[in-house]
Order: sequence, then C-alpha cells, then structure tokens
Amino acid sequence: MEGARSDTGSSSDDRKLRGFWRSVWMISVPHKVLHFAWRVCRDILPTKEKLMRRKVLQEDWCEECKAESETTVHLFWRFPRAQEVWQHIKLLFSFDPCTISSFLDLMWNLMVLSEYVEEKVAMVVTVAWAIWVNRNEFRNGKRKKTGRDIV
Ligand SMILES: [Zn+2]
Repeated sequence: MEGARSDTGSSSDDRKLRGFWRSVWMISVPHKVLHFAWRVCRDILPTKEKLMRRKVLQEDWCEECKAESETTVHLFWRFPRAQEVWQHIKLLFSFDPCTISSFLDLMWNLMVLSEYVEEKVAMVVTVAWAIWVNRNEFRNGKRKKTGRDIV
C-alpha cells in the first residue's frame, strides 16, 4: 500500500487512512467476517509465515502448493485455488492483480483507489473469510474445498 505507508505525516493522507479504517468497520457483513477482515488488514492473522516468525513453526510453506511461504497475500490472492475462487465470482477489479502485495493493499485498492462499491468489498472479505475457514478445516483434517465450493 504505497500511498498509506510512505506518505504518513500529511494530514490529508491521515484522513484517508482514518476514513479507510472507518469504512472497513462499516462493511455490512456478519460480525465474525468483519473481525476477520480487520485482522487480515492489520496483517495479524496467524498464517504460517507469522507463526514461523514467532518461532512457533519451523517452516512456513503453503500446505497446498508448497512453493511459497504462507503469507496472507499468497493465501487469499496468489495461490491457484484462491485465483480459482476469484475467477468464479467474476469480480472486475480496476487494478492489476499482479501488483497486490498484501491484503491491506488489496483493500486499499478496492476502497480508496477505486470507486467504492460496498457489495464488491463485502464479497471480497466474505470470500477471503471462507478461504480462511476452509484452510483451517483442512489443517484439522477436513476436506479441501474447490474454488467453486468456497464461492
Ligand atoms: Zn500455495
């Protein structure tokens, strides 16, 4: 999220950032989804990458592709099943998906840099939440859902 990170100090950016967090809390989704959205935007979800940094885990490979570390952007955006999910819901994004570097960056693009469409934002956080729920179920030995099932 270039804009928010590098230009702190200017009051108009502070205002934008405050407005952003306010808007995050106002997305009309169930509370558990909202709470998830807040955590993923703050980048405090316990992904494997986070757990390895806290020395809880010895490795942080994504359990599915085992090709990259399990960061929020990998889990919710880049890895093949996430891509399958996003293709299924056919949302049009007005930015280049390849440039997204964090979930916060994704939300910033959706809510600040693009025209704010609430249903779209609600859909994105709900889908990300469903991916997270299934990721946890899978880690607990349950079935892995396809992108279509998640949608
Ligand atoms: Zn992966």
